[in-house]
Amino acid sequence: MNQYKIKEIFLSIQGEGWLIGQPSVFVRFANCNVNCSFCDTDYAGGDMMTGQDIKKAIQKLETRYQMPVILTGGEPLLQFDEALYDDLQRYELHIETSGTLPMPIMPVEKIVHITMSPKVTRDKIKLKKCHTLKILWPEAFEGITPEAFIDYPTISKCIQPLDFQVDKAIKKLYEMDRLDPMGHWFLSPQLHRQQNFKDILR
Ligand code: SF4
Repeated sequence: MNQYKIKEIFLSIQGEGWLIGQPSVFVRFANCNVNCSFCDTDYAGGDMMTGQDIKKAIQKLETRYQMPVILTGGEPLLQFDEALYDDLQRYELHIETSGTLPMPIMPVEKIVHITMSPKVTRDKIKLKKCHTLKILWPEAFEGITPEAFIDYPTISKCIQPLDFQVDKAIKKLYEMDRLDPMGHWFLSPQLHRQQNFKDILR
């Protein structure tokens, strides 16, 4: 039986991206293959769990059927696989990834929503498409700009302030909205960094 190293499973409010404001269950996978200098996520350590263990932990937190389950990290695609999908398929699965690895299950449409926040340049991205593209601004890494991903296959695109630089992010958002009016650009303000939803709900 496959096992996965899981840092934590918790109930919170999604603070960023497409599902902002939505009560969700978060499954944080341990480990990451990118080493971002600004990273404030604790993905070290964790416990080995089977897919059934993860399902039981989600069931304990569920307050209503079909609460979204957000697979995050670290980098969830280092570990996510068909076997885990089979165990969790009754849930509305969302994945948050840096795009450095391909989606391990096919068709990718089995996942309700994929959010990609690139941490490598466009030429090194392995994920072929997503639902929401999330770009940090001001530029977190050289070459990872909204313009560089303007034609990446996605449904919506957002700008997320780096280190709370909301004013710069908003200026960039308006710039992109003019440049790419069909891109459905929106601001992703990271509400969970302004308010600790996790502890409130504990
Ligand atoms: S990709 Fe995300 S989790 Fe991994 S080091 Fe960068 S910010 Fe942290």
